[in-house]
Amino acid sequence: MKNARRQLSKAWRVFLHHSNQLVVCWTGRYFTRLWCVYEIASWLYLNKSLDSIVFRSVPLERDKLILMLALAATYFIYSVALLVGLNERRLLFYIGFALALVPLERSLRDMTRQMKLLDEQLGTFTIRQSSCFCCSHNHTMPGTDLKIPCDRKLVYSTIRSWHRETTEQNHGSPLDDCLEEFDCRVRTEFASKIKGRAGKCRLTYRDTILWTSPIMWHTCDVAVCMSVAHKIDVIRLVLLEFVALWLLVMPISVKMSQHVLRFLDSITTAPAHPKLDRMLIPLRYSLIVVCFLLWWLPLHLSRNIESVFPVIAYDALLLLIVAMASPQKRRY
Ligand SMILES: [Zn+2]
Repeated sequence: MKNARRQLSKAWRVFLHHSNQLVVCWTGRYFTRLWCVYEIASWLYLNKSLDSIVFRSVPLERDKLILMLALAATYFIYSVALLVGLNERRLLFYIGFALALVPLERSLRDMTRQMKLLDEQLGTFTIRQSSCFCCSHNHTMPGTDLKIPCDRKLVYSTIRSWHRETTEQNHGSPLDDCLEEFDCRVRTEFASKIKGRAGKCRLTYRDTILWTSPIMWHTCDVAVCMSVAHKIDVIRLVLLEFVALWLLVMPISVKMSQHVLRFLDSITTAPAHPKLDRMLIPLRYSLIVVCFLLWWLPLHLSRNIESVFPVIAYDALLLLIVAMASPQKRRY
């Protein structure tokens, strides 16, 4: 069985050697699992580029889907109301949009905390604190007397042999030094690559426009309906309002909301007090609504102005804000 595990460990390394990308599907437990940490170790000691690591937060991907579905449902109901000529369609839309912000509050709150947890895990990382099945069950298969070999010993000895190869020390360093050097590489090289992407809140522009893509679907719907008779109106309505809403207003509002929630967490220490945390839900929701209104109202009010220049000027201002706020390398 020991030989089989060693063979498997070697095969894993060969597989990674021939891979161009490493996709990390992160959850709060990722860095506490020995074999997940082993993936990172393999990539580091194979001298693969850290830029080729695609880091995906599983909670973030889940929240993206929830928000997209909530917005899609809102616009679908609005489109149906338009089709049947319902007089209260605007009111219906606002209620739907307000409801769609409910999952957004939860998503942004969870995301902010998950990212803080990730920062803490990276900053204090040590492989010795990772857990594995064998050590957790005292090296005995649960429900039997069958002894199972220790994965930790295998992973530690592999890291030590890699360390020997990379430092060209024939006799090798003590195990503690090898593990400490690996911990240090994760806390510095690996962490700087992951933390450097998209700033403190780790929400990319691409993430936001994917979240809010139902606006784009609705825009296409409106453009098709209006293109027959109102060419000038289509340009104004579709390009200057809907596309600006999707590509500029929403990303700025979501990012601003995330910063506001992060600040609220830091001054209330709500995550540590579940009761207080629940009481703050209406406040967080209200703050998100304010963030959206702040950026969306000028665009909406410009509808009543005959000239298109105020809308163009406002869109240009939003474009400048998005360009200035976007970090350089975005994968996560
Ligand atoms: Zn063990």
